Amino acid sequence: MRPTRVLLILAVSGLVAVSCVPFFPVGSGVIVDEAGAVVVVRWPAALEVDEGEQVSHYDIEVDGVVVGSVDAPATSCVLAGLEPNTSYTVAVSAIDDTGEWSGQVTAEGYQDIFRPTGLITTPADLVGGPLSCTPGTDTDGDRLPDIVETDTGVFTNLADTGTDPFDSDTDADAIDDGDEVLGTVDRLDLPALGVSPLHQDLLLEFDWFDDALDGCGAHSHQPSATAMAMLAAPFAASPVTNPDGTTGINVIADHGQGGLFVGGGLIDDPDGVIAGGVSGADYLGYKQAHFAPERDGYFHYVLMPHRYNTSSGSSGQAELSGDDMIVSLYCYGSDYNVATTSAHELGHNLGLHHGGSESRNNKPNYNSVMNYLFQFPGIDTDCTPTGNGVIDYSSGARVALDENDLDEAGGLCGGVAWDWNGDTVVESGVAQDINGDGGLHVLSDHDDWANLYLSGVGDADGAAPVGEHRSFTVAPLVTEQPIPPAYRTD
Ligand SMILES: [Zn+2]
Ligand SMILES: [Zn+2]
Repeated sequence: MRPTRVLLILAVSGLVAVSCVPFFPVGSGVIVDEAGAVVVVRWPAALEVDEGEQVSHYDIEVDGVVVGSVDAPATSCVLAGLEPNTSYTVAVSAIDDTGEWSGQVTAEGYQDIFRPTGLITTPADLVGGPLSCTPGTDTDGDRLPDIVETDTGVFTNLADTGTDPFDSDTDADAIDDGDEVLGTVDRLDLPALGVSPLHQDLLLEFDWFDDALDGCGAHSHQPSATAMAMLAAPFAASPVTNPDGTTGINVIADHGQGGLFVGGGLIDDPDGVIAGGVSGADYLGYKQAHFAPERDGYFHYVLMPHRYNTSSGSSGQAELSGDDMIVSLYCYGSDYNVATTSAHELGHNLGLHHGGSESRNNKPNYNSVMNYLFQFPGIDTDCTPTGNGVIDYSSGARVALDENDLDEAGGLCGGVAWDWNGDTVVESGVAQDINGDGGLHVLSDHDDWANLYLSGVGDADGAAPVGEHRSFTVAPLVTEQPIPPAYRTD
C-alpha cells in the first residue's frame, strides 16, 4: 500500500511520474527595464535536465497574476498596461513540453524553490490598461522588438537599445543585436563578456600547450595579459567607425584569465605538437573537446601548440576568411611575437592576404603586419621599408610603386626619398624588383581596416566562407614563414 504522503503529492501535482522540473540558475533575477512609456522584462533561460524534454514557454506574472506567455527560446517581453507611479513584482515560471513547470512539487517531493523575480516602480507617463506581456513586433528578426530599437546610437537599457529596428546587426560585426543585448539562445552571455550592439566586437578563445621541447626548457604557450593588450590596442585605435559615434573594434580575448573567461585553457597534449594543421584531425579533435559549442559562430578559435605539422617551423596557420587559426612560436613566445602573430593570423580570418587584397607578399608599400616584411618587425612609421615595431594593419595611405618606373624622390610616402636601386643617386625611371618576387609589377597598398570581413566566424569547420567570400568550396589555409632569426626571443 502506498504511503498517504505520496498519494497526497500525486494529487497535488496531477502527474503520475515526475522526475525533474525545469529550473532557473540560482541567483539569477528578472530584469525590468523602463524607458519612457516602454517597459521590458528579461529573465534567464531556464534549464531542463530530463532527457528528451525541452522548455517550451514562460509565464510572466505581475503581482501573482499571469499576464502573458512567451514561447522559448525567447527570454523577454514588452510589458503593457502598468499603472503610473505604482510598484509591481514581476515573476517568471518556465514550463516544459510535458507540462512540468518550475516551482512544481514533483512525485519525489522535490520542488525548485528558486523563482526569479524583479521589481519596478513605474514612472508617471504610463497610462495603464489591461496587463499583457508580449514579444512585440520584431521587423528585423533580431529578437529585439521594434519598440525598444530606438536607433539613437546610445544603449540605455533593454527598453531603449539605440539599435536600428530594420537592421539585425546594427554595428555590422556579424553578431546580431539581440545576441549582444540579451545573450544568445544557447545561453552564451555576451553582454556579460562586454560586447555592445553599437560597437564592433571581436571575440577570441586561446587554448594552449605546455611543453619542454627543443631544449628551451619547460614553458607554457599561454598568452599573457600583456600580449593580449598588445593585440587589442591596434583594433581599439583603428579608424573603423561605429553607430555609437566612436571608432575602433573591441577585442575580447578569453586566454584563461579567470572570472567569466575560463573557456581558454591548457590542453594536455602528450608531445606538445599537433599533427596536421588547422583542418587536421588533431586540431579539430582538440577544438571539439575544449571549445564550448555555444561559442561557435561567435568566437575565433586560436590553438597555441609548440609546433604543428609535427615538425614545421611555420609560425602559424589560419583559415583565409574563417574562424580557426594556429599560432606556433616554438621557443620564442615573447609577448610581442604572440601579439603580432596573433594579429597576422586573425587578419587572415578577417579576409586579409599577404598583400592585402592579393597574395603578393613583401610589398614595401603595403604597411601592414599581414605583410611578411612587417609581420615580425611591425609596420613602418618613418617612410622606410624597415618596420618600426608597431603592430597594425594598413590604412592604405602609401603611394603606389611601379617597379618599371620608380620615382626615388617620392619614396614610400610621396615625399621622403628612398634609393631603391642602392646606387646612392636619387633618380626617377628606376626599374627594380623591390619585393623580391622575380618580376616587375605595380605594387599597391591596401586599406585593411576598411575591408575587414567579420562574418567568417560564422563558418562551419572546414566549410566554405559565407557571403561575399563564398568563392571557395572549403576555407583555404595560409601557412606562415618561420620566425625570422632576429625575432627568436622569448
Ligand atoms: Zn613549446
Ligand atoms: Zn600569413
